[in-house]
Amino acid sequence: MSSGEVCPNCAIEQPEGSKYCDRCGAPVQGEVASKPVKKMSKDEVQSVLHWREEKDQAFKGHFASPIPENMRGQFSGLNYYPVNPSYRCLCRLNKYPNPASVMMMTSTGEEREYLKVGHFNFIIGGKTHTLHAYKDLRQEPSEKESLFIPFRDGTSGIETYEASRYLEIEEAKEGEFLVDFNKAYNPFCAYTDTYSCPLPPRENWLEVEIKAGEKKYKE
Ligand SMILES: [Zn+2]
Repeated sequence: MSSGEVCPNCAIEQPEGSKYCDRCGAPVQGEVASKPVKKMSKDEVQSVLHWREEKDQAFKGHFASPIPENMRGQFSGLNYYPVNPSYRCLCRLNKYPNPASVMMMTSTGEEREYLKVGHFNFIIGGKTHTLHAYKDLRQEPSEKESLFIPFRDGTSGIETYEASRYLEIEEAKEGEFLVDFNKAYNPFCAYTDTYSCPLPPRENWLEVEIKAGEKKYKE
């Protein structure tokens, strides 16, 4: 190792060879990356498709739909990549004992405060990638740990919404989370620009193309 690593939580530079941050205890290096869970049962595929159908129904008919009211009549559903198990990893959350608070810019130029609670390392296309996970400070503390993961990737602005896509995930089993990009979805500002949606911090811009989940919305 040539130089000290930087803590992914508090951004303090670490002495050479340290595994955990001196200040906050966050894992600095040496965490193993998760490989994709390539098998998906019929039920798992069905449940993704069902989720998409229900969302289309809600967007078409619900009063709180983000689709502008005058567009709902011709709304024919959101656009998606086909379900693909290669974009699914069962990941350990590298949790930060003392999460740092971070400000995210929103699509309307405000700032919103989040806690940066940890990161996931995972392998897609033979390379290791990292995504940071956050918690909304405005949300009620719930029993199950639910994480907010805004990200951009190599498809952003081309096949997918340029500003961001989101993942929201709950703990699958003790310390493990199913990071399933088939469930990546667009923030509401993708449909109407009156919504104020948090934009992913630079650390969550992936280089790899995530050809899974929701595509651009076409009116
Ligand atoms: Zn730290």
